[in-house]
Amino acid sequence: MNTRTTLKINENGHLTIGGCDAVDLAKSFGTPLYVMDEQYIRDMCRVYRDVIANLYGGNGLVLYASKAFSCMAIYKIVEQEKVGVDVVSGGELYTAVKAGFPADKIYMHGNNKLHSELEYALACGVGTIVVDAYSELDVLDAMAAERGKIQDILLRINPGVEAHTHHFIQTAKTDSKFGFSVSDGTADKITVYALQKKHVRLRGYHCHIGSQIFEKESFRLAADKMMAFMAEMKQKYSFIADKLNLGGGYGIWYTEEDAKVSVPQYAQYLEAVIEEIKAKAKEYSLQEPFLLIEPGRSIVGEAGITLYTVGAIKEIPGVKKYVAVDGGMFDNPRYALYQAKYTALLANRAAEKATEVVSIAGKCCESGDIVCADVSLPKAETGDILAVLSTGAYNYSMASNYNRNLIPPVVLAKDGKAEYIVRPQSYDDLIRNDVIPPRLQS
Ligand SMILES: *Cc1c(COP(=O)(O)O)cnc(C)c1O
Repeated sequence: MNTRTTLKINENGHLTIGGCDAVDLAKSFGTPLYVMDEQYIRDMCRVYRDVIANLYGGNGLVLYASKAFSCMAIYKIVEQEKVGVDVVSGGELYTAVKAGFPADKIYMHGNNKLHSELEYALACGVGTIVVDAYSELDVLDAMAAERGKIQDILLRINPGVEAHTHHFIQTAKTDSKFGFSVSDGTADKITVYALQKKHVRLRGYHCHIGSQIFEKESFRLAADKMMAFMAEMKQKYSFIADKLNLGGGYGIWYTEEDAKVSVPQYAQYLEAVIEEIKAKAKEYSLQEPFLLIEPGRSIVGEAGITLYTVGAIKEIPGVKKYVAVDGGMFDNPRYALYQAKYTALLANRAAEKATEVVSIAGKCCESGDIVCADVSLPKAETGDILAVLSTGAYNYSMASNYNRNLIPPVVLAKDGKAEYIVRPQSYDDLIRNDVIPPRLQS
């Protein structure tokens, strides 16, 4: 099992999360069910926040990348942990605002923000908008002028560091729909363009080099390139960027192939970055910028598990054994999207040794509807409770009603108690917006 403390096995041989018996949770709330460990989320917020406080004089802010898991309660939790958020759509912004999240601590992203989304962001008083297009600068400047205000912005920059799970590369050419590239001069040009605008105030730069990254050096290199770019902008245009946002991407444990990073070890990523920023600030005689980071997956990913009930079991002799559960790609599309890997176990027999390799299939009408391929389990039987681990990020937030399956509810577990933070859907929810026009009525 992984290194976190949230998952344990109790005297009945049942898996527990946040002090709650997973088998009891399945009984009380039904399956499929998402369970999130509140303390883990809080601990992860604190790890990052404390590094900025202790090593950088508090001159920065952790932003939770809420696309990883968005619902009203999570915005409350991170607000209580003195963390800001980033949002990437009007819908995420709406959820944050409805939860009472302070707008000045919201950063808004998006490579193609809609006019309606920008209007809404201005109306809400969103603190910072991370601009990613010339047209966006024009629109935003005009909108801010109309309101008689000056909107703080960052520019999304591509520093030429591409990180992938187990390696990273420096690239001269970048092919990405995100950001303006330093290497081809477009980052320089958009800076000049932004500085001419009267109703936006350029505060600095943002980059995000990838996701599920374990290499400290890739974050350090990104910081290095961004500081060099900031020095260049100061030298050429006397522009002093006072904010630097280095995005998210810290990796988490899904299977034995991934590094096991304990909660305190996450601090080291940020320590490396801060070391680099301080050194470069000295080297280039720059002020140390206000530092932002945007962890998403690492805050909520390992905090979450999904519970299912085992249904049909099908063995194809000599080929494979499928264990089907009452969920599938509608609650976790990540295998269907990119063959994501997970670890599963039987929550009601958590202490038993694995004896066979099976694939966990969902209940959707797609042969690609797999929850996890080739996982080791004890011999599963119909009625067992299956737990898939590390599902807190990009599962609920990517869920759909495909096949008109209901999106599972989410419960928050803490100190042996659990309660809904997202209630179950009903069949009525599925037809709530359906319309039969009169001409079809007969
Ligand atoms: C997705 C994303 C993040 C969060 O990435 P994680 O890998 O979940 O930490 C942060 N910033 C931006 C701009 C993103 O697109």
